[in-house]
Amino acid sequence: MNDLVRKAEKFQGEFIKIRREIHENPELSYKENRTSLLVIDTLRSLGIEVQTNVGLPTAVVGKLKGRGKGKTVALRADMDALPVKEETDLPFKSKVDGVMHACGHDTHVAMLLGAAMVLAEEEFPGEVRFLFQPAEEDGGRGGAKPMIEAGAMKGVDYVFGIHISSSYPSGVFATRKGALMAVPDSFTIVVHGKGGHGSAPHETVDPVHISVQIANLLYGVNRLVNPTKPFVLSITNIHSGTTDNVIPDNAFMQGTIRSLDEDVRARALKYVKDVVSSTCSVYGAECEVKFMEDPYPITFNDPEVTEEVMDTLRGISEVMEVDPILGAEDFSRYLQVSPGTFFFLGTRNERKGCVYPNHSSRFCVDEDVLKLGVAAYASLALKFTKKG
Ligand SMILES: [Zn+2]
Ligand SMILES: [Zn+2]
Repeated sequence: MNDLVRKAEKFQGEFIKIRREIHENPELSYKENRTSLLVIDTLRSLGIEVQTNVGLPTAVVGKLKGRGKGKTVALRADMDALPVKEETDLPFKSKVDGVMHACGHDTHVAMLLGAAMVLAEEEFPGEVRFLFQPAEEDGGRGGAKPMIEAGAMKGVDYVFGIHISSSYPSGVFATRKGALMAVPDSFTIVVHGKGGHGSAPHETVDPVHISVQIANLLYGVNRLVNPTKPFVLSITNIHSGTTDNVIPDNAFMQGTIRSLDEDVRARALKYVKDVVSSTCSVYGAECEVKFMEDPYPITFNDPEVTEEVMDTLRGISEVMEVDPILGAEDFSRYLQVSPGTFFFLGTRNERKGCVYPNHSSRFCVDEDVLKLGVAAYASLALKFTKKG
């Protein structure tokens, strides 16, 4: 067994207890107060320098200084839960109605604290920086950005993050070099027509008909996108009207575009604007298109660093080189500041009934894999602080 897995195992009782404590008391984005206090107490008990209120009230940064000159390696865990009603039978099931750690961020906090326990007993040069981030699930601004603006990444040479995932088998690490996750461009379209009687469409500007045309044309976007590049556009809601004999005034629709390539992305965004303005002009409607401002960027793993990361992880467990996925992560913002790698730790285990996807009300984690995540964080910190 890998030496660091053995060292991680020594603290297993402690970090699993922390994980269960956080799981039982989940907190939504920006409200991670109790979790943040637990992080602060644990880091301080290990003699680690702690900065609180880093860009957001619940954000915590820990700094563990090594001996002598070396690199600064940042390790990140997000801390927020989701507005999901937990439907598992776990003895430490959520005590907060309608809130659940359904994305496993409770395990991220526990693994990073486990790594702090291991690293506090190790010798290394430089500095290990622990980033405990609020609000990854916010989907809008997110917690990474304010933390970076407050200086959390200052002087960081490399940054690494783990996400627990039921898409991969228990104990297997999964990642890839280059673009791993997408940029999520959410859009909102409003069609302002002119309502009237259902029997006399010629006297109206029918927003229902116009939205149907827009929806059909938007799905034609694939005629413009290189089919070898991962991309998707989904219209996820359309609302208009109230009854059978009234043509309404307005229609409203929303959707999301996911891409891994800036050229593909630019072409798709322009297409959405063009389709809306041309369709609305044909029928004489006034239309608005809004895209979400500053969405999470493409999660881009530095190819050279990631090659070394995969080598290091192979010393701990199996490593799969996987296809990109079209979900999004604000870990991408750290990767825009310093090179590094985001990777998954599999937790799918049929025997233990851990088969439900992340964000499911039945999502469950095989806790036996947590020590592998602890060892991964610790190994990467030790390896990359020593890099010349
Ligand atoms: Zn999530
Ligand atoms: Zn997540």
